[in-house]
Amino acid sequence: MVFRKRKSFILGLAIVVAGCMTYPGVTSEERKAFRGELQGKRLEHYYDQAVRVVSVGYRLLKINPKGEASPNHPELPLLYSNANKTLRETGYDFLPKKSVMVVGLLSKLAPPQLSLKIKRGDQIVMVEEKPVHSEGEINEALKSFRQGEAVNVRFKRGLDEWEETLPIIFLEQEVKFAVDGKTGYLNAWTNALNSISVTTPMLRFVKTDDELAFILGHEIGHITEGHWLTTRVIYAGGATAGATVGQMIDQFAPGAGGVAGALAQAILTSPFSKEMEYDADRAALKYMKRGGFDLSQATHVFKRMAVEIPKTQKFSIVASHPATPERMHELEAMIEKGVP
Ligand SMILES: [Zn+2]
Repeated sequence: MVFRKRKSFILGLAIVVAGCMTYPGVTSEERKAFRGELQGKRLEHYYDQAVRVVSVGYRLLKINPKGEASPNHPELPLLYSNANKTLRETGYDFLPKKSVMVVGLLSKLAPPQLSLKIKRGDQIVMVEEKPVHSEGEINEALKSFRQGEAVNVRFKRGLDEWEETLPIIFLEQEVKFAVDGKTGYLNAWTNALNSISVTTPMLRFVKTDDELAFILGHEIGHITEGHWLTTRVIYAGGATAGATVGQMIDQFAPGAGGVAGALAQAILTSPFSKEMEYDADRAALKYMKRGGFDLSQATHVFKRMAVEIPKTQKFSIVASHPATPERMHELEAMIEKGVP
């Protein structure tokens, strides 16, 4: 018996060793090429998600042409990026070093014929006859425009160059949108620097752009309602457990976990009151209505989250956050009352 056991152990060991040694021959060049291919795919995936988030975000923040608000934040119906090192190393090596590339068209905000022509990888070379080489130069060129005006933009693809007339979108508030592909947990948050991040699991969780609109709308609400300004004052006064302004965050789903390191501190010192949370929800519904989203999906997203990820119901870490049933009830009441 002992012998047989031992034999099978040796046999097992031999298989493991042989398994390693007879691993199909992959050269280091092939491995490198495979890694490069994956990195390229990751970048494309990231850009697809970024286009989705920015597209929904801009629809929420877009001021109608007749709007009385001052036209402070002009944007193109495009997502673009400086041709940085990563980008030029991942399939976009044809771009000049100092140039701007189209990442995606925000199709719901652009005239339909544009979506046939402009695509990722096209270079933006001029705005109103003025050469542009960076995101900053484009933003600068857009500043002099007024509500309802259009802008001539020149694109380049290979040897082909052409011009398009694009509408300018004016936003109520300048907000930076980001996709967080590292955290790995379902969540979304905003910080005092007007930046909103959505994690990739959250983007997988939301079934529709309407659901995503509620999540983004809530975080936008904290910004436009001036909640951060109030808390900035408090924090500047030093009444904190050591969190800096940049570390403070508002999480959409505090119970979902996943925010680590410096941000963990901020969870424990969540800056907003229950009233502020309801105000942000109210603002989210207002923005959803303005952007043409389905308001009833605001409650769907909460219900689904409570069913599929039960721990999101436990908001115990942040005493000021209303619990899910309470918040859902309040949302339904807001919708019933009518959203301005
Ligand atoms: Zn909040």
